[in-house]
Amino acid sequence: MAVNLLDFDAESLTAWFAQQGEKPFRARQVLRWIHRFGEGDFNAMSDLARSLREKLLTIAAVSPAPTLSDKLSADGTRKFLFDVGNGNAVETVFIPEEGRGTLCVSSQAGCALDCTFCSTGRQGFNRNLTTAEIIGQLWQANRLLSINAPGERVISNVVMMGMGEPLANFDHLIPALRLMLDDNAYGLSRRRVTVSTSGIVPAIDRLAEACPVALAVSLHAPTDGLRDRLVPINRKYPLAELMAACQRYLVHAPRDFITFEYVMLDGVNDSDADARALLHLVRDVPCKFNLIPFNPFPASGFRCSTAERMRRFAAILLEGGLVVTTRKTRGDDIDAACGQLAGQVLDRSRRVQRAATIPVRNFSMSGTAA
Ligand code: SAH
Ligand code: SF4
Repeated sequence: MAVNLLDFDAESLTAWFAQQGEKPFRARQVLRWIHRFGEGDFNAMSDLARSLREKLLTIAAVSPAPTLSDKLSADGTRKFLFDVGNGNAVETVFIPEEGRGTLCVSSQAGCALDCTFCSTGRQGFNRNLTTAEIIGQLWQANRLLSINAPGERVISNVVMMGMGEPLANFDHLIPALRLMLDDNAYGLSRRRVTVSTSGIVPAIDRLAEACPVALAVSLHAPTDGLRDRLVPINRKYPLAELMAACQRYLVHAPRDFITFEYVMLDGVNDSDADARALLHLVRDVPCKFNLIPFNPFPASGFRCSTAERMRRFAAILLEGGLVVTTRKTRGDDIDAACGQLAGQVLDRSRRVQRAATIPVRNFSMSGTAA
């Protein structure tokens, strides 16, 4: 079977070329054709020796996951659905804003971590995406977004905030991140690529060593008791360990800050006391907060906090000296908003059926003044 060149970053492509008896500069040329110029046809790679083009045609391919759908929201958000085989599909969302364009990329088909307010988590886990499937989302989106303006770059930022937990797919994630930063590929600066994690502490340390891009941490609760229920991975890596990992991360990414994501759940994590507890929790971590209005999905069992509550919550954090932004919900008319990405995943765990029969939210509200 042909080797998919989308699976390689610069280093592994050079090594593969060496195995084929080809020089490193040839690997660099091919890398540029594929990622910088978005070319998937070896015949169009005009400065390659003909013999190399012929060789590549027989042993290699540039094979992104096929596009299943491409939807445009009224607000300009665009959602792509890619077929990753065996009945699984993953979503990628492009969010245009004044002066920048952000691509939200998926890392897994489904997610094993089962956060109670997340529609991806609710579907169960199917498998890790390969490097080709991760970087292929950027490759495809670049091509589809610039169909009317070839060569134009509309994606200025990448956030690993689509389906799945990126740090649970570490080995396939790192080459994809390296390609995003590589000047011969996408050439994005370290601060324009963000990995969002629910808090897998050992992998945060590994990311700091391997590729210290911007880090977003899905916090969602100020205490272990509440976080254990909302983000179950907290039982393994509780808040004190998570905060320490954030501090260690910033040693590798000086002058940076951690972005804490906080989904606003009505009567669950949105009280004044919760906001004050957060100020205390993050006191030693240079950070900013991104409050995310909860995006509903069928049978979630949660409601979004009221606008007034979100304003008050943000005001307490601001008064405490933090930088706070409230995320605008984008693309909800095409189910492209945070936590609504469902793709299409064969749920081998039958979690969806379970969730439909068991009430999801039966927390006591202790610790939160509802
Ligand atoms: N698995 C990673 C990244 C993907 S989720 C993580 O958890 O960080 C991206 C963000 O959307 C996370 O902060 C996640 O908690 C949040 N999210 C999940 N479901 C949501 C929902 N229904 N409404 C709003 N945000 C949600
Ligand atoms: Fe997975 Fe992130 Fe959803 Fe939690 S919020 S279930 S880690 S995708």
